[in-house]
Amino acid sequence: MQPSTTADVVVIGGGGAGPAAALAAQDGGAHRVLLVEERAKLGGNAVFATGLWACETRQQREAIVDVSADEAFRTAMEWHHHERVDPRILRTVINKSGDTIAWLTEKTGIDFVISVEYKMSYGHAPTWHVPARIEEHHGHSLLKFSQVVRSLAETFEAAGGEIWTGAKAVALRTGEDGAVTGVVVERDGREEVVEAGAVVLATGGFHGNPELMEKYFYFYDDTIGGFRIPMAGDGIRMAAEAGVRLEPHATLIKETCSSSEKPNEYSLGPATRQPDTVWVNRLGRRFSDESVAIHLQTGSNPLLRQPGMTGFALYDDAMVRGVDDDGWLLPRAPLRPAHLRKHLESAAATGDWAVAAGTWAEVAAWIGAPAEALERTVADYNEHCARGYDAEFVKDRRYLRPLLEPPFHAIKFGPMMIDTVGPVRVDERMHAIGEDYTPVPGLYAAGSLASGWQGTDYCGQHLFGMALGFAVNSGRIAGEQAGRHVAEASRA
Ligand SMILES: Cc1cc2nc3c(=O)[nH]c(=O)nc-3n(C[C@H](O)[C@H](O)[C@H](O)COP(=O)(O)OP(=O)(O)OC[C@H]3O[C@@H](n4cnc5c(N)ncnc54)[C@H](O)[C@@H]3O)c2cc1C
Repeated sequence: MQPSTTADVVVIGGGGAGPAAALAAQDGGAHRVLLVEERAKLGGNAVFATGLWACETRQQREAIVDVSADEAFRTAMEWHHHERVDPRILRTVINKSGDTIAWLTEKTGIDFVISVEYKMSYGHAPTWHVPARIEEHHGHSLLKFSQVVRSLAETFEAAGGEIWTGAKAVALRTGEDGAVTGVVVERDGREEVVEAGAVVLATGGFHGNPELMEKYFYFYDDTIGGFRIPMAGDGIRMAAEAGVRLEPHATLIKETCSSSEKPNEYSLGPATRQPDTVWVNRLGRRFSDESVAIHLQTGSNPLLRQPGMTGFALYDDAMVRGVDDDGWLLPRAPLRPAHLRKHLESAAATGDWAVAAGTWAEVAAWIGAPAEALERTVADYNEHCARGYDAEFVKDRRYLRPLLEPPFHAIKFGPMMIDTVGPVRVDERMHAIGEDYTPVPGLYAAGSLASGWQGTDYCGQHLFGMALGFAVNSGRIAGEQAGRHVAEASRA
C-alpha cells in the first residue's frame, strides 16, 4: 500500500454525475477535490447521451413552453403510483433542473436548445435539453454530452481540481464512528489510500454485472440488446461494505426495441416501433397493441412475456413504400429519410434479422411459427382494419392498416436496455443512508447507482432525459453537500 494522499472531497466515477459533483464540491467550499475515474477517459455512459430533462428553463420561456416543476412532479408521481420513489428526491431534482441547465452553460460556455431533432412521444411539451453551439444568425449545431463533460472537467481543473484517470476505487475507509474517512484507489498496479473529509460515489449502473442483473431483474438474459459501457456496480458494493442500506429493488431503463446484432445499428429499430406495424411472437400470434411502442421506455414490456422475449414486426410492401415516401410516423425516429427498403434488403440478405417473402407461409417458416397460426393472425388483423376496430387490443384506428400487398416482410426484434437505477438508498441531499435509516457521515451517492427517483419502469413518458438529468442534478447536489460538509468541519 502506498503512503496516503489527502483530499477534502473524493468523487468516484467521471461519467454523467461525477464531473458535476466535483465542480459543485468546489462551489460548496471544498479546496482540494479529487475526481477518480477507472477508465482512461472521462464520460462513462454519458458520452452516448444527447439530452437531459429540465423544466422552467430560459429556453422554454423563450419558446413559450409552459412546463411547471409542480405539474411535472405531480404527473411523474402519479405515473409511478408513488411506489419506490421518494417524493422528496424527485421533487428536489425536478426543482433544480432548470437552474442546472443555466449552471452547465455558466461552467462550460455551452448553450442548450430544446430539441425536436428526434420525434419523441406525442402530446408532451419539449423538455429535452441538448447541448448546442449557437451559431451566428440564430442557427445552432447540436453537440454530444461528451463535450459538456470535457468542458466541466477543464473548468474543474482550472479551479484547482485534480483528476486521476486509469484509477479504480476499490474500497471505502471508515472510522470507528462509521464515518467515511477515505478511499482505497488502485492505479499503476498499486493500491494507495486517499484520506478524505467526504466521498461521492458516482460509479454508474450495474448492467455489466450479470449476478446483480439476475438478482434484480427476473427477466434478465444476456441477449437484451443495446449498447453501453458495461458498469460493474463497484459503488454499490463499496456502499454496502460501508453500511449503506441497499433497496430490495432496482429499475432497468429499457428502450424499445433492438433489431440488430450491431449494437449501434438503428436502421431497422424504428421500423419495429411504428404503430401501424403488426407484432407477432414465435408462435405467430399477436400479443399487444403495437402503438405502445410510442412510449419508448415501456414499449418493450409486452415482449417480456413472449417466448425468447422475441417479436417480429410485419409489413406489407405498401407500408414499406409509405415509410420511404412519407417518413416514420413515430417515435424517436430520426427525421432524416428512412431508407427502409434498402435496410430491409440488406438485412434479408443475411437472413438473421429480416425476411421478405411472397406468402405468409414462407414468413412463418422463417419465424419458426406454424403457417396456419400466422395466416390466421394476418386474416384477423386485416378484418379489424376493414371494420376500423381492433377487437383484440383496441389499437387506435388511425394505425390500422391491412397487410395485403406482397412481398411481405418480417423484422425480428427484442428489448433493449440503456442503464440501471439503484439500489443505493439516498435522501434528497444525496446523502447515503445507513441500515438504521440515518445518513452515513461523509458519504454521498449520485447518478444511476442511487435509488428513490424511479419506480418499476423509467418514467420516459413524462421525464424523458431524466437518466442524464438525474445524474447531473444529483451529482451537483451531492457535490454541493459534500463541499459544505468539509467546509463546515474545517470551521468547527
Ligand atoms: C447509448 C446511450 C444513450 C443514452 N442517451 C441518453 C440521453 O440522451 N438522455 C438521458 O437522459 N440519458 C441517456 N442515457 C443514460 C445516461 O447516459 C446514463 O444514465 C448516465 O450517464 C448515468 O450517469 P452516471 O454518472 O451515473 O454513470 P456513468 O455515466 O455510466 O458513469 C459512471 C462512471 O464511473 C466510472 N467507474 C465505475 N466504477 C469505478 C471505480 N471503481 N472507480 C473509478 N471509476 C469508476 C465509470 O468508468 C464511468 O466513467 C444513455 C445511455 C446510453 C448507454
